[in-house]
This record gives sequence, structure tokens and C-alpha cells, in this order.
Amino acid sequence: MKIRDKQSTKIVATLGPASRDEDMLLKLIQNGTDIFRLNFSHGDHETHGETISRIVGINKKYNLHIGILADLQGPKLRIGKMTDDGVELNKGDEIVFTNEKCIGTKERAYMSYERFAKDVKVGEKILVDDGTMIFEVVDTDLKKNVTLKTLYGGILKSNKGVNLPETNISLPAMTEKDYEDLKYILTQPVHWIALSFVRTAEEITDLKAMIKDSGHIAKVIAKIEKPEAVKNIKEIIKATDAIMVARGDLGVEVPIEKIPFIQKNIIKRCIQKAKPVIVATQMMDSMITNYNPTRAEVTDVANAVHDGADAVMLSGETSVGNHPERVVEAMNNIIEEAEKNYMIQGKRPKADKTSKTYHSDVICITAAKTAEEVKAKAILSITESGYTAFKISSYRPPCGIYVFTSNHEMSCLMNLIWGVKSFLYNKFTTTDETISDLTNILREKNLLKKGDVAINTGSMPIKRKFRTNMLKLTVME
Ligand code: PGA
Ligand code: MN
Repeated sequence: MKIRDKQSTKIVATLGPASRDEDMLLKLIQNGTDIFRLNFSHGDHETHGETISRIVGINKKYNLHIGILADLQGPKLRIGKMTDDGVELNKGDEIVFTNEKCIGTKERAYMSYERFAKDVKVGEKILVDDGTMIFEVVDTDLKKNVTLKTLYGGILKSNKGVNLPETNISLPAMTEKDYEDLKYILTQPVHWIALSFVRTAEEITDLKAMIKDSGHIAKVIAKIEKPEAVKNIKEIIKATDAIMVARGDLGVEVPIEKIPFIQKNIIKRCIQKAKPVIVATQMMDSMITNYNPTRAEVTDVANAVHDGADAVMLSGETSVGNHPERVVEAMNNIIEEAEKNYMIQGKRPKADKTSKTYHSDVICITAAKTAEEVKAKAILSITESGYTAFKISSYRPPCGIYVFTSNHEMSCLMNLIWGVKSFLYNKFTTTDETISDLTNILREKNLLKKGDVAINTGSMPIKRKFRTNMLKLTVME
């Protein structure tokens, strides 16, 4: 099977009814998908489980390391069922949102948030359906009912999302549904677990503890889509394993014109701390129906690549769109072209003297720096924890980053990281032998040839499996 995988910037594709059958999964992989995302806001466990089995089967059959991201819905607020196809509300119309279950009318609609009437304050804005309808709170009985005045009207339809950017929401980070979903996810071979509507670093620390207690290897992605998360970004980046700039809800929760700068700022911070960062939502939105992207979409994807994102993400484009395989192909074309002119933005990451991994960090960063200096073709690393891959990649070295691990799940996990290509390897005899083994593997794949310079990192003595403590330069004979 021929796969397009030369690009350093990774592609995350969300799966749904348009893309979960085996043929389509294969096409998406061939066109350059690195990670599949399962959105637990939609679909049941049985369907997600079938999709996961198919991906596992494909990885086995074709010897691939496509990763799986399970995305938890988090405390997403929604309107309940409405009569007919929804009700029309015009500027000035008043409506009551209540926490009592009911079928919604022009006067009264259910909203899934028990403490809404207690948490909300008069004058705060309520946004519905991705911010297409805007309301203002005029009264609350502090128990059940909140009276809203329509500022921007429209048709209020069933199950639409509600955003409260100005309200201090007292809901926990994980709902009952999220706990149920997490319990299920932890029985599955997924590699990344994303949490929506993160507000604080503790929410991430708690989720990581739950995953660790279960013995699962999955790492955590904090979705940045609340103003509180933007405010707490430093602590969240420190606590999490990776970040998603979730521009969909973020664009409703903060003034939309702030998004480009929030995106650039978060990417810069993530690179400094070696935390992979995904740019998500509406990247190729018009391709849900159209055959070609718009000029603006092409420029948006190219800009995310130049900002230094590890990955760009597709949502509706691949989950419910008309031609998911075409979207991935078009996205990969943009990435390929953008990477020809790749420029490192901002400062290169430095090793942090106060870090527990300071010495290994210095080796990793020096390996990347040396590779750049001597125009090496490849950096070859061995890792069991993935740590070296995260660190070396964060320097964004202009050469291949080939990572060898004995753990298949870890190699799928590392597929999200910028530039990293991973291989399975579990023959750890002597350092000399391993280095020549690894370079031979790349030579057989035509990734190294005579005269090329390769940089190796590893750990000596090899059997002790210490953190990275060795750096070697090899000129291929
Ligand atoms: P969602 O997250 O698709 O789960 O809402 C992404 C976003 O909000 O951008
Ligand atoms: Mn979202």
C-alpha cells in the first residue's frame, strides 16, 4: 500500500458516518491521515468500538502506526427538544430557559444545566448554536428559571449547543456521561484522550491520574475553548501532554477576532515546552460539500503549518462530508507546499535547569542542534516512554526524526508529534550493534545512503534503559 507520509505536520481526521468503513479508512490513511479522532459527543460505544477494531486491524495488516484519539464531550451545555423544527425568536422577544425537562416552545425551553439559575447574573450574554443566536439575561429566580431577552434572533432548534462566555460555570470538568465514556475508552487501545471545555490545570491532572490508575498508556489533550483556559494557559500546558486549539467553541466564547493571536501564542508556548499542539475546526469547512477549498482555507492551513503546529485537524469535513478522502488529499497538498518554505517561528526551546529531566533534555536539544549544524539526514532515537520524541521534535530539526520503540501502542501515540516517524524495534544487545541495526533499517528503506550524516541518541549501558544520555554522529559508509 502506498502512503503519503513525507510531511512533518500531522493530520488528525475525525471519523463519522461518512468515513468509518474500512475502504474509506484506508483511503484516508493513504492520503496522509496520521491520527483518527472519535468524537464521543456523537455515536454510541458499540459503533466507536467497531471503528477502533477496524483501525487496529488495518494497523496490523499493513504494519502501520495510525493513532486513535478519543474526544470526551465535557460540560457542553445544550438546549432540549423543541416543538416541530424549532421556534422563531426575534429581537426583543423574551424566553425562559429552565432546568425542568420540557418540550421547548416560544415561551420556555429546557437547558441541560442544573445550577444555571444560580450561576448566571443579570446582564450576562447567552450564545446559542455556535453564537448565531444571542440572548441577554434579564431575570433569574435563582432556582429554576432564567428569563432571557433576544438580542440576535433566529430559529431555536432542538439540542443546539449553548455557550456562556461571561458566566462562572460551576459544573464539574467531567459529566456523568464523560465518566461512562472514559470507563469504556480505558478498555480500548486508544492513544490520546481529549477533554473538552478545560478551565484549569487540576482538571487535566485529575484525568491523568484516572488514566494512570487504570494502567492505560493514553496521554491527555487539553482542548482550549474557554476564556478561563486561555487565562490559565501556562499552568495547563505544564500539566497536560498536548493541547488542541479548539477554534469552534473558542470562537464563540471569546471575541472571534482574537483567535489568530491566541492560536499563535499557544503554539509558541507549546513548542517551548515540547507539548504537541493541534489546530482544529473549520480548516477546510467548505469542503464538506465543495470539491476544492477556498483561498482563505488554504491560507489558514498553511499559516498553521508556519505557526509550527504539530497537527491540523478535520472535523465535519471527514466525519459527515461528501468526500473525506479528497479533503485529506487537499490538506496534505497544502502542508507539502507550506513545508517547502518552513521557517522556525520565535526562539528554539532551551533545556530548563530546574527540570527533573534537565540532563536528558540537553542531550535531545543538542542532538537536534547538531543535526541542523552538520545538515544530517536523520536523527535516530530509541525510546520507551516517548519522551525523546517529544523533546527532539520540539526543536523542529530540518531532517527526519526516526524513533524506535519496542511498544506498538507507543509508536501509534507518537504519530501525533511533528516530524516523528516511528518503527518497532526490540533487540537491545549492545549499543554498537543497535546503532548499526537502526541505521541499516533506514538504509533498507532508502531513508539513508552512503555519505549521509546520521545522529543517534540513546542510553548507555543499553540494557539499563536509563533516560537518554548518549549522542553519536555517524557518517554512513
Ligand atoms: P468539538 O471541539 O468539535 O468537540 O466541539 C472542537 C472545537 O470546539 O473547535
Ligand atoms: Mn468544542
